[in-house]
Amino acid sequence: MTAVLDEKLEPIFQDVLRRNPGETEFHRAVHEVLESLGPVLVKYPEFAEKKIIQRICEPERQIIFRVPWQDDKGEIHINRAFRVEFNSALGPYKGGMRFHPSVYLGIIKFLGFEQIFKNALTGLPIGGGKGGSDFDPKGKSDAEIERFCQSLMLELYRHLGEYTDVPAGDIGVGSREIGYLYGQYKRITNRYESGVFTGKGLGWGGSRARTEATGYGTVFFTEEMLKARGDALEGKKVVVSGSGNVAIYAVEKAHELGATVIACSDSGGFIVDEQGINLETLKRIKEVERRRISAYAETHRHARYIAGAESTSIWSVPCDIALPCATQNELTGRDAKTLVENGCIAVAEGANMPTTPDGIRIFQDAGVCFGPGKAANAGGVATSALEMQQNASRDSWTFEYTQKRLQEIMVNIHRNCHETAAEFGTEGDYVLGANITGFIRVAKAMNAMGLI
Ligand code: NDP
Repeated sequence: MTAVLDEKLEPIFQDVLRRNPGETEFHRAVHEVLESLGPVLVKYPEFAEKKIIQRICEPERQIIFRVPWQDDKGEIHINRAFRVEFNSALGPYKGGMRFHPSVYLGIIKFLGFEQIFKNALTGLPIGGGKGGSDFDPKGKSDAEIERFCQSLMLELYRHLGEYTDVPAGDIGVGSREIGYLYGQYKRITNRYESGVFTGKGLGWGGSRARTEATGYGTVFFTEEMLKARGDALEGKKVVVSGSGNVAIYAVEKAHELGATVIACSDSGGFIVDEQGINLETLKRIKEVERRRISAYAETHRHARYIAGAESTSIWSVPCDIALPCATQNELTGRDAKTLVENGCIAVAEGANMPTTPDGIRIFQDAGVCFGPGKAANAGGVATSALEMQQNASRDSWTFEYTQKRLQEIMVNIHRNCHETAAEFGTEGDYVLGANITGFIRVAKAMNAMGLI
C-alpha cells in the first residue's frame, strides 16, 4: 500500500484503518479501490459531498456466530462463522461462503468489499456480501461435513432469502457443501426457495455452466485482453495455480482455445507437465478421489512434482500467461519479477486478490496485461445471477446458451474496463478501469436512494 492517495481520500482510508484494526486484507482491498477514485470525485463531486465512499466502506450488516458440532467420535468442536452483508444498492447481497482455517473477519470483509464492485461490473442486479468459517474441511468425513453445514445453517438461515442474501461456494465449499446447506435451509423454512443459493446441483435448481463459470470466464477475459493487443491464446504456454474449482475449469477452457497449460498446484506443491496437463487425470484426482496434486505424477511419470518449499514457486515455471487461481497473496513481487524475466505477457486473476500490490506494479510497469480478480473472475458470480434468473422463471437453460451469456458478459466487462481506463487515465490499466466502472454504478444507485 505504497501508492499515495488523493488528499480527499487519505482521511477516508485513515478512518477505515482506525475503525477496523488488524484487518490487513480488508485494508488492502479498500486502499486499492481508493487509489483509483481520485478522478471520479472530480467528475462527480456529489459522491464526496454525500460521503458515498465512507458509506461503501462500512458494511450494512455483519453477523458473527458460533457453530458447535460433533465429530465422528462424539467429540465437540466449536467454530466461528461470518456473514458480512456489505452493500445492497443493486440487489440482494450476493457472494460465496469460504471454509478455511485462515478465515477471520478481515478476510470476509476484504472478499465482501471486492464483491460489491465485481457484482456491479457484471451489469446484473446483485449486491455484495461474503461469508465463511474457520472450519477446516480437510480430513473430515462426509458425515462431519454434513453435521457442520447443518449446524451453521441453523443460525444463518434467518439472514438469508432470495430477495435478501444469496450465498454460493468459495474455497472449501463446493456442490457437496451447497447441498447440505440448502437442504437444511429448506427443512427449517419449509420453503422450496431455489434462488436462495447458487451453485446448486443440476437436478435441483442449479445452472448448467455454473461449475465451469469462474475458470471459463477468467480465460475469456484473458482472450479479450490479448485480442485488444492483436494477439490470441492459441499456441500460448499457460501456468495455472491451484487445482480447485476455478483452476480446473481455467485449464479446461485454456486447452479448448488452443493454449497448453503446463503447470498447476495445491497448497502442498506443484506439478509440471510440459506435454500439457491431462484434464481427465486432474479431475479424477481432485474432484472424485479428493487427493493431493502430487498423485498426478503417479499416473503421468514424465511429469515433475515439486513439493512446496518456500524457495520454489509455481511462478518460476516459464510461461506466456499466468492465471493465479488459488488464494490471496499467492503471487508476490518476487514471483512477478521472475514471470516478467521469463517473458510472461498476460496475467488474469481467477482467485481473489492473489497478486500482492508490488506484484501488480511490476506487471503494469513491464507492460504485461493485468486483469484484476474483480473483473477477470466475475464470470462465476455472473452465472450465479443467471442461475437466479432461471430459478425465478422456473426455467433451465442449455449449457451452450448459458456459456454464450457468460462469454457476452465477460466481453462486456472487458470493454467497459478498457474504455473507462482510457477515459479516466491510463489506457490498458484494467485495475483502474474495473474499480471505477464498478464504483460508479454502485455510487449512482446509492445517491438515487437517499441516505442509505
Ligand atoms: P477450491 O477450494 O475449489 O480450490 C482452492 C485451491 O487453492 C486448491 O487447490 C487449494 O489447495 C488452493 N489453496 C487454497 N488456499 C491455499 C493457500 N492458503 N495456499 C496455497 N494454496 C491454497 O476454491 P475455488 O477454486 O472455488 O477458489 C479459488 C479462488 O478463486 C479463491 O480466491 C476464491 O475466492 C476465488 N473465486 C472463486 C469463485 C468460485 O466460483 N468458486 C468465484 C470467484 C472467485 P489445497 O486443496 O491444498 O488447500
